[in-house]
Amino acid sequence: MKYERDRTWAEVSLDHLASNFQKLSEWTGPACDVLCVVKGNAYGHGAIEVSRELERVGCKILGVATLEEAMELREAGIRLPVLLLGPIPPSHTALAMENNLILPLIDEAYAREVSAAAVSAGRTLRAHLKIDTGMSRYGLPVSKDMDGCIAEALRIVQLPNMQVSGVFTHFAAAGDPYEDDFTRRQMGLFRIFSERMEAAGVKLIRHCANSPATIRFPQAHYDMIRTGTLLYGFNPFGRLELEPVMELKTRITQIKHLAPGDTVGYGRLFTCRRPTDIAIVPFGFVDGIHRSASNKAYMLVNGKPAKIVGKICMDLCFLDVTGIEDVAVGQIVTVFGWDHGVYQSAYALTDAYPGSAPELTAVLGTRVPRFYLRNQEVVACDQKE
Ligand SMILES: *Cc1c(COP(=O)(O)O)cnc(C)c1O
Repeated sequence: MKYERDRTWAEVSLDHLASNFQKLSEWTGPACDVLCVVKGNAYGHGAIEVSRELERVGCKILGVATLEEAMELREAGIRLPVLLLGPIPPSHTALAMENNLILPLIDEAYAREVSAAAVSAGRTLRAHLKIDTGMSRYGLPVSKDMDGCIAEALRIVQLPNMQVSGVFTHFAAAGDPYEDDFTRRQMGLFRIFSERMEAAGVKLIRHCANSPATIRFPQAHYDMIRTGTLLYGFNPFGRLELEPVMELKTRITQIKHLAPGDTVGYGRLFTCRRPTDIAIVPFGFVDGIHRSASNKAYMLVNGKPAKIVGKICMDLCFLDVTGIEDVAVGQIVTVFGWDHGVYQSAYALTDAYPGSAPELTAVLGTRVPRFYLRNQEVVACDQKE
């Protein structure tokens, strides 16, 4: 089947992606690499096409969460080094080495297992040390026991068939000004750890900044940043102007003219108080919109806000289009993006419920085709024909 932009679809601007990558490279400067995080299907944008474009514009390294995500990139012919942000089962170490993947070493026990696997495969494994400076996620617990972790790390780097070339940590609250003391404490521990390793003769590539830290803490850039949120054009932190990479569109499939007292959808959550025009659009919670946006969020119809009324269904939702002129079946509706010169950001929708704009794109359903645009022309689609 050939996919058309006729139901609900995402438009992913390769131009915006490329320009965000360039701006981030300039922001961090020539001494710092930009590791592009493409986990979660590139936050819903489509990992393969996004990675292809990043490779084309000079990105040097990608980051993913799982082995499956890494292998998807390799199977699509993407050759950039890939850092795993979380551990993979040690039984897959050989596959990781064959595919030029870089593993995170989260503790000595894990490092010993992957080292042993590398020895039996007769290859050298590329790896970065992961340290925990307060997030309580993966890594050596340096916030609990710096001396012990240094000793452990020095044992790890001496394990056979391992090339340990980097060290990283992850911030817990770098976007929250009220937590800046905590973030500075995390940065301090990271600095001490890397300095002590260097003093012991182990020079490592240092990276700790995620998206909020990239903007808010330039001193955290070190040798590399790891960014996803910013790359896709989500920057609630100001200072650097980036362009949203995705727009999300749907089309009106039916219009209902309702009378006062008529109710809409499951649970009769919305009751019309006046003659009401309802447009049905095929965008439901399976496609990625959270049900708590029911009776709260808006979409754009002819550049005008149309409220989502009634409970959002699995496959569709209802818009109140009363009073909006020239509304017709088949017409394009903007969930987020540009519509008749009016812009609605994904944040406008996620304001209605817990979660943020990158989460909305990240959970965008698999049945929503992503169309890739260059100079406003569709150049690819993520769905098989
Ligand atoms: C997801 C992730 C990132 C990217 O975070 P953003 O804030 O989206 O840039 C960076 N580092 C690690 C370890 C991650 O898991």
